[in-house]
Amino acid sequence: MTASPRNLAVTNAVLDGEPVSLTVEDGLITSIGPDVDTDGSSTETLDARGGSLCPPLINGHTHAAMTLFRGHGDDLPLMRWLQEAIWPVEANLEAEDVYWGTRLACLEMIRGGTIGFWDMYWQPEATARAVEDAGLRAVIGPPVFDPPDGDFETRNRTLEEQLRNLEGFGDHIQAAVAPHAIYTNGTAGLEYATGLARDRDLPIHIHLSETEQEVIDCVKAHGMRPAFYLDDLGMLSEQATLAHGVWLDREELELIADRGATVTTNPVANMKLAVAGAFPCAEASRAGVSIALGTDGAGSNNSLDLLADLKVFALIQRHTAADAEAIPMEEAWAIATGRRSSLIGGLGRPGIPASDPLTVGAPADFIVLDPDVPELALGNLTSSLVYSASSSAVKDTVVDGRILMENREVEGHTEILDRARERSTRLGLS
Ligand SMILES: [Zn+2]
Repeated sequence: MTASPRNLAVTNAVLDGEPVSLTVEDGLITSIGPDVDTDGSSTETLDARGGSLCPPLINGHTHAAMTLFRGHGDDLPLMRWLQEAIWPVEANLEAEDVYWGTRLACLEMIRGGTIGFWDMYWQPEATARAVEDAGLRAVIGPPVFDPPDGDFETRNRTLEEQLRNLEGFGDHIQAAVAPHAIYTNGTAGLEYATGLARDRDLPIHIHLSETEQEVIDCVKAHGMRPAFYLDDLGMLSEQATLAHGVWLDREELELIADRGATVTTNPVANMKLAVAGAFPCAEASRAGVSIALGTDGAGSNNSLDLLADLKVFALIQRHTAADAEAIPMEEAWAIATGRRSSLIGGLGRPGIPASDPLTVGAPADFIVLDPDVPELALGNLTSSLVYSASSSAVKDTVVDGRILMENREVEGHTEILDRARERSTRLGLS
C-alpha cells in the first residue's frame, strides 16, 4: 500500500463557524468555501457531518517504534531508564519490531490528528516503510552515537547507507541527521554529523539540555553551555531542531533565535522523567526562537496524544511563569500545529507551506473534529482544543488527500495491534 495522492471532496464541514465544502486534486486543496461545487471529478467524498475543519497536529520529536517500550521501566530516572530498561532491549531489535512498533505509533497518531512527525530511531528504513504504509509523513533520522567499539569507519558507512536508503523513499519521507545528544557523542562525532548534514543538505535533529547535569557536564568539559558548544561546531542553523531545551538560559535562547534554529519542547516526557524544569517558552518566544511541540517516545511519555500534551504544555508554562498570560491559547495551538517553526511544520522541506494549512494550493493535510463530543460542543474552539480536547475529539484525518481515518475507523487497526503485541512479546517486554 502506498500513499498515492487522491482527489477528494469534503462536504458538510465548518470553518470559522461557517458551513464550507472543500475539494482536493492530486493531494492539494483546490477550493474551500461556502459555495464550492463538490459534484465535479472527485473520486471520493468525506462527509464531515457538521464537524470543524482544522489544521493537523505535527509531532516535533518522537521515537515512534518505542510504543513497544510503553510501560517498561516507568519509574526510573532518565539515565537509569536508558541504561537499564531501554538500551539492553534495543540491542536485540529487528527491523520487523521497528516496523510494527512504528505502525502502532502511526495508528495512535492518526487517531489523534497528528499527520507528520520528527523521528529518531534505529532501523530507519523500517520506520520509513511503516510511515509510507500508514500514509503519514515523517522526517526520519538514524540516531548517531559514538560507537562503543570505537569503529567510526563502519558506523559512518552504515549511517551514510541508511541516509541514502531514506532518500529513496517517496515524498512523504525526509531524511535527517540525528546525533542523539552531546553526552553520547564526542566533539569529533558531532563535527562529523554537522558536516554530513551540510554536505547532503539535510536537517539536524538532536536532544539538547534535557537535564541540568547535561549542562553542568558540558560546561566542565567544554567551558561553555550546550547551545554555545553546538554553535561552535557549526550545528546551529535554520535546519536544526533541538529537542527539550529545558535548561537553556537567556543568552542561549538569543543565540538560537539568531541562528534560526528550532526548539521542540516535550513537556510530558520532561515531567515523567522528572527533569525538574520546563522549557522557558515565553522567554524563548520573546527572543524570537522558533518553537514546536513534541511528545517524545511512548517509552517516556507514555502516549502520543499531542492534543493531551498541548494542555500540559500550556499549563506548565503558565504554572512555572506564575503568569496566566505566559502563553496565549492561539500561540499554543499554532505551536502544536507546526506553525511556529517552518522547519518542523514543513517537515524538513521548505516546499511544504506550513503557515496556513487550510488554503487553496496547500497540501490536503487536515482533520475534522467530531461535532458530537461534549467538550467541543460549546465555547471558543481554540480554547477547547488547547484546554479540553484529547485525541478522541478527532473524527477524520486526511493526509495528501487520502482519508486515513473516517468516523474514527482506521484501516488495518486490528492487525497492527496483533502484530505489535507479537513483537513486544518477542522482545520480552510483555
Ligand atoms: Zn527523545
